[in-house]
Amino acid sequence: MYRRWETKPVRVGDVVIGGSNQVIVQSMTTTKTADVKATVEQIHRLEDAGCQVVRVTVNNREAAEAIKEIKRQIHIPLVADIHFDHRLALEAIKNGVDKVRINPGNIGKREKVEEVVKACKERGIPIRIGVNAGSLEKHILEKYGYPTAEGMLESAEHHVKILEDLDFDDIIISMKASDVPLAIEAYRLAAERFRYPLHLGITESGTLFGGTIKSAAGLGTLLNMGIGNTIRVSLSADPVEEVKVARELLKVFHIVSDAVTIVSCPTCGRIDIDLISIVNELEDYVQNIRAPIKVSVLGCAVNGPGEAREADIGIAGARGEGLLFRKGQVVRKIPEQDLLTELKKEIDTMAKRYAET
Ligand code: SF4
Repeated sequence: MYRRWETKPVRVGDVVIGGSNQVIVQSMTTTKTADVKATVEQIHRLEDAGCQVVRVTVNNREAAEAIKEIKRQIHIPLVADIHFDHRLALEAIKNGVDKVRINPGNIGKREKVEEVVKACKERGIPIRIGVNAGSLEKHILEKYGYPTAEGMLESAEHHVKILEDLDFDDIIISMKASDVPLAIEAYRLAAERFRYPLHLGITESGTLFGGTIKSAAGLGTLLNMGIGNTIRVSLSADPVEEVKVARELLKVFHIVSDAVTIVSCPTCGRIDIDLISIVNELEDYVQNIRAPIKVSVLGCAVNGPGEAREADIGIAGARGEGLLFRKGQVVRKIPEQDLLTELKKEIDTMAKRYAET
């Protein structure tokens, strides 16, 4: 039985993070936020890929001003990523942002923090405290000598206390590090210490290939421990890839309930069809289908029927053709050149039926 650590639910626009809700997939744009057209285009691509909350950098006044128009043109909650400058936070809040990522301890004078908290309270906007192993406070680094999970927890406690002292508890916390064991331990300590939702991430994890593996190892471990309420995979790649990886990861732990899962064999000398091409194309095809369908694509009849029994739809290859299974029952034989097309049709029909229920 899969169990999640209990947290306070925190509303971000029309999405609730934490409580008994599903893990929410996030990403961050790579465009200049002030370039509304490019930013909105990228957010639309992220929405199509399954992104549920999107963050933009608000690093100058033009970016803060662009929030208003971006909000008007997108369909998912928008988060402003702000460092140090409380005026940018106030401007972003005024322009309708749904959450701010800012560390209260880095804002400066208490009056400035109070202003931001007051604005967030008035509009019901949460704050994400983003602890990062690479930018821990000087006094913490001096105390521990180098970034440690305990130091990261101390940093989080420091920022949380500032907000709680102002009677503000719409808080989400992240404990990011690019070192996977360090991030895991920091999140574990945070899950034990706080009842606030946790935003999971392995920061600066690297390229599409390396970063996916790092993120899967780190975030997968945490998800398997029931830790994490929202997830952002950070990759040096198109952010759409981040969403694809995040969704795939959530599928592994059965956290995403509206996605197509593909089972395929590694192929071997028994194979008589071009399974690798078929399955790669199929994987691309199902990315944007929102239905819980399990598809099995097996190279031959050795394991094919067995796997197909567990799947909604499946094929088992043979010489120049494939057997099509539906819920474990053989439906018909299909020539190899038509296998992909027929599988897509079957999946579309099932997805349509699911959407109508
Ligand atoms: Fe080989 Fe058949 Fe197993 Fe695929 S399903 S790996 S083709 S034996």
